[in-house]
Formats: sequence, C-alpha cells, structure tokens
Amino acid sequence: MDLKLISKSEDKATILLTDSNPVIANTLRRLMMDEVPVLAIEDCEFIKNDSALYDEIISHRLGLIPLKTDLKSYNLKEDCKCKGKGCSICEVHLSLRAKGPAIVTSSELKAKDAKVKPVFPDMPIVKLLKGQKLEVDMKAVLGKGKTHTKWSPCLVYYRYSPILNVSNVKNAAKAKESCPKNVFEVKNDKLIVKNMEACDLSEDCVKYGVDVKYKEDEIMMFIESWGQLKIKDILSNGIEVFEEKLKELDKKIKD
Ligand SMILES: [Zn+2]
Repeated sequence: MDLKLISKSEDKATILLTDSNPVIANTLRRLMMDEVPVLAIEDCEFIKNDSALYDEIISHRLGLIPLKTDLKSYNLKEDCKCKGKGCSICEVHLSLRAKGPAIVTSSELKAKDAKVKPVFPDMPIVKLLKGQKLEVDMKAVLGKGKTHTKWSPCLVYYRYSPILNVSNVKNAAKAKESCPKNVFEVKNDKLIVKNMEACDLSEDCVKYGVDVKYKEDEIMMFIESWGQLKIKDILSNGIEVFEEKLKELDKKIKD
C-alpha cells in the first residue's frame, strides 16, 4: 500500500491509498477515529453554580469542548507510571471562574498547562444573569474515541477512486450542470474533468454520456480533524496503532 497526499488544509486532508482495499482503509479509518487519544475534560467539581443549568448539563458541555493536545507531554492514565492514581503527566487541571451578566464561553477555561486550550474559543457554555456566579475546577485526561466520542480526534470516510471518461459526451453544458459536486468544466464546448477528488460516484452525469467507473485497488480517504491534533499526527498515530495491533496478533498466533 502507498499513501499520496492529494489536498490539505488546516483541518482537512484527502489522501489516496494505492494498491489497497476497503478492509485496510476501513481498519485505518476506525483506528484513527477510535484509538488515537486526545485530551478531554473528565472530572468536574462545582464550587458554585447559580446558573439555570444543572451541574450535570454543564459538565457534559465542558466534556465536549475540544482541547489542543500534545501527545508527547501526556500519558494515558492506564499506561502511566502512577498506575492510574493521577499525576502531572496523565492529568491536566483546569478552572473556570465567571460572573454574570455574561455568556460564559470556552475561552474562559484556564489550564495549568498553557499549551492545553480550547480549539474554538467562542463555544458558549452557559448564560449567567446579573449577580450569578459559576466556579468549577476540572481535570482533563487522555482518552480514546471508542470509550466516548469526546475523545475522538477526527471524522474519516473514504470511497473508491473514480475513473471518468468524457470522450462520448455530446452536450457538455448539460453534463457539467448535472454534477452536484462541480467536478466538470466546459472549455471550447468540451467537457473537462476539473476536480476529480470531489466526485462521489453519484452517476448523475451518466445520462449525458460520461462513463463512470472506479479503481478497485485505489481508495480516496478524507480526514477531518476536530482540532485537538494535526492531521499528520492523527494519521501517523493511527498507523502506529495499526502496527502494534498486527504485532499483537502475530504474537498471539505464535503462542
Ligand atoms: Zn500519572
């Protein structure tokens, strides 16, 4: 299998897997979403909550705030030297102190480790009226998406890589218009494939003469990060977990 980067922005990437198949692509997809750890708030201690929302609802909202994660600085609690008791390399302490009237946002979370901050600073948590206060102390820990989706770093999906043959198209303008994903372009009355990567094999263009096929051993994979980790780290960690699982299986077979 080979990987090729097709396009990339800060929070999205498209990669092409060649000499591959859906079994490998789907395993990699699930490992990236469910096994690559990120930080999320897990424990909340409420000192004061005058707001209209119950402590449990605010805790839930706090847990779902994506936090910038540096995987080199933290351990999963179960793999930590402290054996799960909690220490500075498996837990981050955060605090929130807010006074009404205000809409409390994620930017008001203050962590002991300055690198740990919310990916999106403007996420509303709760509205406080005049004189109301909210005081919460929290602990964030590394976790995996298979335990709770708040610990998932990304969304990943894939499809076969398309082959589009436009040589038999008679009405180029109609064919271009038929595509909901804006794959084609018309130049000198001829249909041209402008953006193959966007093609989702919907086959709307088939009735205008486009021949749509796909390569069985080439898979286009789309990764969308929720912001805690860079796409590069999600992919490399996903592949690392893949290797570990294969080694574990190999060992079990030998045993
Ligand atoms: Zn620890």
